[in-house]
Amino acid sequence: MNFKKLLKVIFAAMLAGIMIFAAACTTTPTPDVTAAPEATEAPTEEPTEEPVTPMEEILAALASTEFKDCKNVILYIGDGMGQNHVPATDAITGGRYDGKLVIEYLPYTGIVNTTCTEGEPDSASGGTALACGYKGKRKQLGLNNKGEEVMNMTELAKSLGKSAGIITTESIVDATRATFSVHAKNRNDESKIAALQIDTSVADFIMGGGKAMYDLLMENDPSYVQKLTDNNVTWVTKWEDVLSFNGEGRLIATMTDDYWFEDADTHPSLPEMTEQAIKMLSKNDKGFFLIVEGGALDEVAHNCDMMELTRHMTSFDQAVEIGVRYAYENKDTLIVVTADHETGGILPKEEADAYIKKNEKTNQYIAQEEWCLTNAKLHCLYEAEKIAQSKNPDVDWDTLPYRFTTIAHTSNKVNVWAYGPGAERMQNEKLKSFEIGKFLGESLSGAEFGSTDKNGVK
Ligand SMILES: [Zn+2]
Repeated sequence: MNFKKLLKVIFAAMLAGIMIFAAACTTTPTPDVTAAPEATEAPTEEPTEEPVTPMEEILAALASTEFKDCKNVILYIGDGMGQNHVPATDAITGGRYDGKLVIEYLPYTGIVNTTCTEGEPDSASGGTALACGYKGKRKQLGLNNKGEEVMNMTELAKSLGKSAGIITTESIVDATRATFSVHAKNRNDESKIAALQIDTSVADFIMGGGKAMYDLLMENDPSYVQKLTDNNVTWVTKWEDVLSFNGEGRLIATMTDDYWFEDADTHPSLPEMTEQAIKMLSKNDKGFFLIVEGGALDEVAHNCDMMELTRHMTSFDQAVEIGVRYAYENKDTLIVVTADHETGGILPKEEADAYIKKNEKTNQYIAQEEWCLTNAKLHCLYEAEKIAQSKNPDVDWDTLPYRFTTIAHTSNKVNVWAYGPGAERMQNEKLKSFEIGKFLGESLSGAEFGSTDKNGVK
């Protein structure tokens, strides 16, 4: 018997032992002779569970839902999720419901220009537009074009007596999601962003990765250990500590050092976090604002890893499903799904091949943003593809129907999908990102929010 077989035999014997033990433990207890006769005679009733509406039925009814006034807003951001991320996922995975993702069933859709005042957006300007309803500059978090602090959605929700939460699969101090918790001039100063999240953020919770930056802050400035207490912040690094959080004060959870891969078991999945986040926030009768971010989508697109991207997209869509079900059942929740910008220049395979061939000599398909310029030589498209392929050796990459054309961000347009009170305002092919931010704030407050200027600057 080889070692593997031996292990199997040992495992089977252990399993049998556990089952016998379990059976012994679950034998019917001796009836209580002092109990009233009716109680002992009545057949034991199975606990009745609320019938769960099948998701297919909900999806079919989305377009005809009658809504109440808007009480809650859930914003989903797929970081770097461009217009081809969705069809690429459908084509490679077969979709989730009748060949499509839940996102595609949301009844109102628009096309969004994500450019910032300096042209091509980064996650900081893209995030600020959605969080504050202003068109800003690259690198700036929660500031308008002049560098002045402008109110974000989290602050708006709290000012209305509502609850607010932020969850992401990325580091919580990284740009997009940080625009919902702090105001800062430079997105790269991540240790400062961690400090600002402790000192000034009003979000009831911020959950995701980013432990490394929090560790660094505590090491560089040990006074922050005390400042956690002073600011009534509970900082945890494990999912079980999130689940057992008593709800007093604010919660910050950094469950990985940086961003995370969907298949690791050291952290919750995005759908698990979404379920928990809605459970925590919906305790407030006045309502809530929640941002659910597929943050790591951007990382895997920079890596040109199409298979990892489709896994993240599927998980992101499962998180959307949880929100859509909640909105369908409660009729007072607005769901908006969009992106801060596009990453990877994904195109159908033939178009991508032609584009790459045409631009090969000039290398235009290589990086435009700072991070990518530094890494372009080492980490250009071909290199990234080679690494991605080595991680997925069973996949025949030549047969994949979509391909990346850059390792960088692009200024390609993105989509917005919406469901809920007032969602028809998103049915527009000429939206600008900041107009989505304005719409979110105005839906939550019933009053004007964000820039009052048609260009989103003032
Ligand atoms: Zn990026």
